[in-house]
Amino acid sequence: STTNLNSDEDNINVVVRVRPVNDQERSRGEREVLEFPGKGQVICPGTAPGQKHKEDVLEYSGVKRLLEMAVEGFSCTAFCYGQTGSGKTHTLTGPPGLVERGASPFTPEHGLVVRSFVYLFQLIRDRPDCHFVLKASFLEIYNEKVIDLLNPGTVKKPLQVRWSKDSRSFYVENLFTVDCEELDDLFAVLEEGTRNRAVGSHSMNAHSSRSHTVLSVRVRRDVRSERDVTCSTHGKINFVDLAGSEMTKRTHSTGKTLEEANNINKSLMVLGYCIAQLSDGKKKGHIPYRDSKLTKLLADSLAGNGVTLMIACIAPTRSNLSESVNTLRYAARAKKI
Ligand code: ADP
Ligand code: MG
Repeated sequence: STTNLNSDEDNINVVVRVRPVNDQERSRGEREVLEFPGKGQVICPGTAPGQKHKEDVLEYSGVKRLLEMAVEGFSCTAFCYGQTGSGKTHTLTGPPGLVERGASPFTPEHGLVVRSFVYLFQLIRDRPDCHFVLKASFLEIYNEKVIDLLNPGTVKKPLQVRWSKDSRSFYVENLFTVDCEELDDLFAVLEEGTRNRAVGSHSMNAHSSRSHTVLSVRVRRDVRSERDVTCSTHGKINFVDLAGSEMTKRTHSTGKTLEEANNINKSLMVLGYCIAQLSDGKKKGHIPYRDSKLTKLLADSLAGNGVTLMIACIAPTRSNLSESVNTLRYAARAKKI
């Protein structure tokens, strides 16, 4: 089930996705314990007696609008947040095996990324009066090191994040970008990056719970006006599969400072700080984007002109309740931005 929450004006929207109970949980006698009493509300049975947590959520939408805005020239991000096993990767790319299959045959199981690619090309076809240039990249942030998932050599020699004065945004130096003229080019990027991510790690699960992936598609649109003047817009969409949110707690519980947390999961913590700062109405104050690789790369989508969609992924069972409540709190905080 997917619950929602959005107004068109907001620059950060939040949706909540609850994955179904799985076979393993069912065999332990677990069942879905969440309640959805009304639009925009999730009730989790109290983690302390009598305590209920209500979440303000609206109806699901979001990604389509993000893609339309990327085509219009905005910087957009959709990120999946939630504990390991809550369905982040599933939400983005669908069940394992579907990535390799690309868009055909297209099934209801396909994830958000594949659907987005298809929709993006639909948007392009709808504008025969414009010329489009799409460039895709796929990277991973592990231990504050940026690894190019399209260039396995970077596992040993991570890439640097730098500030561009011209575009007034951060970029990854020497990141491989692929010109995508056709839908299949986008799928090839997704497939190649997904394969490299799996190959580069001994234990896929332990690794993916600690790393973030960012799949980006830059969209340049050239519009030719009547007097033959061409003007261009430069938009972008990032799909972000975050490290498991239980990692932030692990960081806090060791009593470490932000500096010391470097090797645990700095990017996830700093994203939390940035969102907290933005939601405190301090938009003009200091937002610590520069404190992590991830927030540098997402800064333009989080700040003023950009658009961000948080997909809060939660598991439905009692044994996952405290993590689910944490995720919903994080989501509720993000929603105040
Ligand atoms: P995460 O990336 O958050 O660690 P996964 O996406 O790997 O979690 O999901 C954990 C397991 O649950 C996977 O086996 C996945 O296929 C399954 N799963 C997650 N979400 C759904 C869903 N909406 N429908 C069916 N199965 C799901
Ligand atoms: Mg995952």
